[in-house]
Amino acid sequence: TSFNDFGLAEPILRALAEEKYVTPTPIQNDSLPLVISGRDLIGIAQTGTGKTAAFALPILNRLATTPRPLEKKSCRVLVLAPTRELSGQISDSFRTYARHMRVSVGLAIGGVPMGRQVRSMMNGVDILVATPGRLLDLVRGNAVRLGSIEMLVLDEADRMLDMGFINDIRKIVAKVPAERQTLLFSATMPREIADLADSLLRDPARVAV
Ligand code: AMP
Repeated sequence: TSFNDFGLAEPILRALAEEKYVTPTPIQNDSLPLVISGRDLIGIAQTGTGKTAAFALPILNRLATTPRPLEKKSCRVLVLAPTRELSGQISDSFRTYARHMRVSVGLAIGGVPMGRQVRSMMNGVDILVATPGRLLDLVRGNAVRLGSIEMLVLDEADRMLDMGFINDIRKIVAKVPAERQTLLFSATMPREIADLADSLLRDPARVAV
């Protein structure tokens, strides 16, 4: 298989070629058709398997094929991740793959002043990558609205659970429209993650690598 087989938009294929991505990794091979078709997905995958592109590429494809004006303070895609480091890597990956698209990527992480994040959200962003605690702070401060989200990603869900983010996640998801596509990635599937997936995903496909 090559990336050309998934029907990805041309600007995405161009960025992948520039990054010298030739062959999709197994998780990408399995996830791309499912996510492009609109299915919810549970991905059991560790870091290093190419899981970021497994969700980022179909997300960007959707943004490329269904352009929509941004609403103030809102986003079309929300990615939740456990740490600042991972969030930064995810937003960098989105920016790399979206190099030839007009897509805005926001980052909302703790440990830095809120002011810049508040300002960067004023006109909305296509994709917001966030850690749960800081995102809730921004939502409570009326700097971020979650009402126009179309796609939700929970990355490293087991680590978010270990770090005590489960209640924050539930509060966030309660403000996200029920009509959405939800993707959950986790290296392990303890009972709590399976329960979380049951309550947040609709008829999910499962891929494991
Ligand atoms: P991840 O598991 O998402 O953290 O990705 C691990 C590393 O693999 C990152 O540095 C990616 O840039 C790289 N990568 C992901 N998919 C591919 C691919 N299909 N071909 C080559 N490198 C890739």
